[in-house]
Amino acid sequence: MNLQKNYDPSYLSENNGFTISQKFCLNLNFRCFKEKLLEGEIKNNTKLYNRCTDKGGVEMHYDAIVIGAGLAGLTAVCQLIDAQKKVLLVDQEPENSIGGQAYWSFGGLFLVDTPEQRRLGIKDSKELAWQDWRGSAGFDRLEDEDYWAYEWAKAYVDFAAGEKYQWLKSQGIQFFPVVGWAERGGALAGGHGNSVPRFHIVWGTGPAIVEAFASKVLQASESGLIDYLPRHQVTDLLTEDGAVTGIQGNILENCIIRRGEESSREVIGTFEYTADAVVVASGGIGANLELVKENWPSRLGLPPKNMVSGVPAFVDGKMLEITERAGGRIVNRDRMWHYTEGLKNWDPIWKNHGIRILPGPSSMWFDARGDRFKAPNFPGFDTLSTLEAIQKTGYDYSWFILTEKIIEKEFALSGSEQNMDLTNKSIKDVLKRVLPGPPKAVQAFKENGEDFVIANSLKDLVDGMNKLAGNDMLDFMHIKEQILARDREIENPFSKDAQINALHGARNYIGDKLIRAASPHKILDPKAGPLIAVRLNILTRKTLGGLQTNLNGQVLNDEGNPVQGLFAAGEVSGFGGGGVHGYRSLEGTFLGGCLFTGMKVGKYLGTLKPVPNKAKAIEV
Ligand SMILES: Cc1cc2nc3c(=O)[nH]c(=O)nc-3n(C[C@H](O)[C@H](O)[C@H](O)COP(=O)(O)OP(=O)(O)OC[C@H]3O[C@@H](n4cnc5c(N)ncnc54)[C@H](O)[C@@H]3O)c2cc1C
Repeated sequence: MNLQKNYDPSYLSENNGFTISQKFCLNLNFRCFKEKLLEGEIKNNTKLYNRCTDKGGVEMHYDAIVIGAGLAGLTAVCQLIDAQKKVLLVDQEPENSIGGQAYWSFGGLFLVDTPEQRRLGIKDSKELAWQDWRGSAGFDRLEDEDYWAYEWAKAYVDFAAGEKYQWLKSQGIQFFPVVGWAERGGALAGGHGNSVPRFHIVWGTGPAIVEAFASKVLQASESGLIDYLPRHQVTDLLTEDGAVTGIQGNILENCIIRRGEESSREVIGTFEYTADAVVVASGGIGANLELVKENWPSRLGLPPKNMVSGVPAFVDGKMLEITERAGGRIVNRDRMWHYTEGLKNWDPIWKNHGIRILPGPSSMWFDARGDRFKAPNFPGFDTLSTLEAIQKTGYDYSWFILTEKIIEKEFALSGSEQNMDLTNKSIKDVLKRVLPGPPKAVQAFKENGEDFVIANSLKDLVDGMNKLAGNDMLDFMHIKEQILARDREIENPFSKDAQINALHGARNYIGDKLIRAASPHKILDPKAGPLIAVRLNILTRKTLGGLQTNLNGQVLNDEGNPVQGLFAAGEVSGFGGGGVHGYRSLEGTFLGGCLFTGMKVGKYLGTLKPVPNKAKAIEV
């Protein structure tokens, strides 16, 4: 697979005998029904013909309508295909956006007690994972908003320690052999964080996980088993006596864009479809900075003035309000998962595009005024606590100071397009990671990224940092003293500095020692240089709260009863129950949450009997 081809519209004009899976990779499945019709490809298909004309009036009632062709929606549809249900899948984006955010993801999955972990000497168990989950989630609304979230959390940890691994393998998913250690916590055993490495990277990253489900959906769509309508934006849910009976919305003009770019919202028609069940799988609010600010919790101070967006524009959160209007209840709105190590993408795909650094444990982390953060606010340890500490400073950025030796081993960037070796499943290129020098994508940021300062002396580095920030808040002597203090502690294999102890601890894990944690050295050792400073922005990403659902994925109303006909899966449902993560995530739990909620909803709907004599669909 060559992901770069995804960005090149010229590939759209070629269509020469590719398989469905190849077409998916190359995005040749791009053109809308209308264009296909003009080309005579589907003239003989009456159902599609009617949809593509402006006459409308197609009589069609579905067993289920799924809103959103992201990972959660696709997983639900796959279950419904297995159950031979009549399904309509709609999405506001063009077909080349199938898979939603998951396509852009690093493909990290939270799994417990796997062969990959055991091969690396990691002893994990369901009990340890549940201890970590509860310690991280900090559920404190169990009587109400957290009630179903807690139930989903228990079920999810069971899944991650049980059937998830074999189920993914049966979908053709393979894993990179070194398991990553995300969110290490840094407090007590019962507190936040993964006690052991659990972040399993899918071989092929996000596109591979999407392909496992999207190829089945596209195949079913091409053979007429299901209907898939891209560029169909839902603006309302139809209701009858309090039950949801269908969807209505706008047909958006076709537009040729690269995957991930913002698509046109020009309306060329409207539609209405009815179904026994409507599944909302529309994702979170991460690209809607206004909504993020509106829901920003006061415990984290004022919302940042400047944030970069870690998600494409279609993550607009609009379906939340639409679903609320139809009776669904949103809970835990104040819980979000934004990252503190965001870079402005020097080669952006979407507006205000930010890329997250997945840092190893060695970089020194300073606030905007030049004070080093205290435990547990070390790179990769406790995202929420670090966000809180940053926000308390009144500035919305912070700094890493590190060496060339650290960046070579410890900087990874999140996102499929930032890890082309893994995305392309190229063993040759992956092996190059152990050669001297940072990975290609990191080197490109070093050379072109506006957040990087590189210098041979600390004085020049601090001057460069002040210049970049446009102020003179950083005092050279103050920074030097803190670095010297840290460097004195590195002489021994033991130390009182919590971050240095954590670094030694990390290197006791073979995976970190091999590829993630640089050998301990002084930051001011010229042999480890040059020195590097990186300005870190707040990067929006995941929505932890959402539509409250029971374990069948039924959306509940304010009284705690299911809204008839209404279901939700994925990020819009807080990945289950309206907030399965509580306040914090252990990472790799979002893709997994989409798979689990999509699977549960799809399975449940697969067992339901059709409701007799239902109404029609109209498209004009
Ligand atoms: C760069 C990046 C890296 C990530 N890395 C990881 C990782 O390593 N591990 C992990 O667990 N998670 C990761 N994530 C998070 C994870 O990818 C997402 O949380 C998850 O894919 C969300 O899936 P979803 O199906 O719920 O929503 P989405 O993927 O957002 O899909 C929702 C779909 O609904 C459509 N839609 C929305 N509103 C409407 C409407 N009104 N009408 C019609 N259609 C609508 C949208 O167009 C979209 O296609 C990453 C995310 C990003 C962006």
